[in-house]
Amino acid sequence: MGKEGNASQSWGSTGPGMLLRLIRTADRWTKTELVRESGLARTTLIERLEHLQSAGYVTSNKQPTQTGGRPAETYSFNDQAGYLLVADIGGSHVRVGVTDLAGILLATSERDLNPEDGPDAVLGGVIDDLDGLCRTGKLDPSRIRAIGVGVPGAVHEGVLSRPEISGWESTSVAGCFAQAFPQVPVLVDKDANIMARGEQRQNPEKYQNMLVLKVGMGLGCGIVVDGRILQGAAGAAGSIGHIPRGGNVQCSCGQWGCLEAVASGRSIAKALLDAGQEVHTSRDIVNLVRKRDRQALDLVRQAGRELGEMLGLVAAVMNPSIIIVGGNLAESPEPLLAGIRESIYSRFLPSLTSGLEIRPSVVGSAAGLTGAAELALEALLDPARIDESITLGQSWR
Ligand SMILES: [Zn+2]
Repeated sequence: MGKEGNASQSWGSTGPGMLLRLIRTADRWTKTELVRESGLARTTLIERLEHLQSAGYVTSNKQPTQTGGRPAETYSFNDQAGYLLVADIGGSHVRVGVTDLAGILLATSERDLNPEDGPDAVLGGVIDDLDGLCRTGKLDPSRIRAIGVGVPGAVHEGVLSRPEISGWESTSVAGCFAQAFPQVPVLVDKDANIMARGEQRQNPEKYQNMLVLKVGMGLGCGIVVDGRILQGAAGAAGSIGHIPRGGNVQCSCGQWGCLEAVASGRSIAKALLDAGQEVHTSRDIVNLVRKRDRQALDLVRQAGRELGEMLGLVAAVMNPSIIIVGGNLAESPEPLLAGIRESIYSRFLPSLTSGLEIRPSVVGSAAGLTGAAELALEALLDPARIDESITLGQSWR
């Protein structure tokens, strides 16, 4: 994240970085509009704009006027000035992508992974995937501006503080990517949090208080309170998978009776395997759900009921306006949602649930990658960082 250096302090709170933040909120601006919205004096605004333009952060265009008069000059964020590399690493699957600086996905690829290969092999493989996308797209490596990564587990300062996969403890995910891509900021967060960012991006005004459940082989939850992702003391807010709900089923973490042990892709796959079905991944379960397999439908719906009990409790604490259900197991979301709604609406008082919307992800599988891009952009375009780069004479040219 941006450092508060001496350089940035000289700009005060009205430096070019803050102006850039304003410019990003709309497609294009005239100087008059920017003076009005920023509150800056016209001469100050022109000076700030010149800095942003010469650093390559802002471009200008001449727009013809409707009256046929002198074309008005407009200013826009230069979202074509480079690329972001993004990765959404789950417990059994990884997606990688390249975006422009508006966070629009330009290329993606995905594959299954085996977390038991260990963090070095898995992260090395993800870096190879990103390299592959860059080579296929003939991207100039010097135009990669930042990297955003989601991983299964709580992250504190780029390090997995509470991984969902045993053997991944204390893995420096940021350090691993920074070795492969030096010179660019690397931002890492929990997979459910980047998914929440991707969903929030659809409607930031509306999604100020939101719960995003990610159901794949494991469980994750991203919590948005007053417009911000809730991180908690160790980045572990929303780690609902290992909350004990009782019972005698052993969880992948070694404890007995965790929520994940009875309501996750892993638990459903195990039950189906025990019943003689060839099921190993969330996608295998979804395929059975799509074929209307009775046993798979019942197991997914029951998992939804269990999840609904927990989501109701969390919702009672944080009062979201919406619960979004995503992840690989939600790719055919009906039975899962039916179970969640059944529990929440039958077990919790209407005063807790009135106005609460519960729905599947509209962004779908791309939510993690677009959220990783948001995470990277937030750091890359942090106003203090932009001010400092201008003072140091750095640019995107
Ligand atoms: Zn557990």
